[in-house]
Amino acid sequence: MIAAAEEGWDKKQKILLILAHPDDPEFFCGATVARWVELGHEVSYCLLTKGDKGGDDFDVTPGTLAGIREVEQRRAAAVLGVKKIRYLDFEDGYLVADIQARRAITRVIREEKPDILVSCDPTNYIPRAGYLNHPDHRAAGQMVCDAVFPCAGNPHYFPELLKEGLLPHKVKELWFSLPAVADFILDVTRYWERKIQALYEHKSQIGDKEAFTKRMRGRHTPDSSPESPRYEERFRRIVFS
Ligand SMILES: [Zn+2]
Repeated sequence: MIAAAEEGWDKKQKILLILAHPDDPEFFCGATVARWVELGHEVSYCLLTKGDKGGDDFDVTPGTLAGIREVEQRRAAAVLGVKKIRYLDFEDGYLVADIQARRAITRVIREEKPDILVSCDPTNYIPRAGYLNHPDHRAAGQMVCDAVFPCAGNPHYFPELLKEGLLPHKVKELWFSLPAVADFILDVTRYWERKIQALYEHKSQIGDKEAFTKRMRGRHTPDSSPESPRYEERFRRIVFS
């Protein structure tokens, strides 16, 4: 039995993060993932791409980068206690919320049968001042929304999946990380250093380690100080009735 926490869950939940790129789980909500693992929930990732365009070095081909990032992602997830990662191998940068993508996500939901799904907010164009959201993040959120409702839980969508024995599955909750408007905020101060440790594993993405550490530690809440920092991760949470 898991003690009821801020989320209001009183038993173990199966939590699946469906996100666009390696490093998205850790950047968007790595501290929350660490918290969920510590509380005894079962957490796994499904990543839509291998992040093969996540770098502008002419000498590193997308194929090489994909291999590097897969290893980095495995190590980062291990720091947080996440063991299972699956990839759908869409091409990085070109995600589109079309019917093919919807079928692929519906398949994952019916195979994995999560209680809780975590993805991106498809409506968030400007996550913070001076920064435009990656189109893959918005597309990933749209793809997940469209698969969750109505496809995953309705036998009449993608009957070919039903023929394979993949029965309809309804998730209990959908969480948007990096939301345009948050309605559920977790204090994750206790897990912030672990999030940073996990992000260190994404060596190809974080640049200078010292500057990165300073930047991440600087993301404390406005009502706290560098000497006594408090950290939050923010979500938009849909609890289906
Ligand atoms: Zn990303």
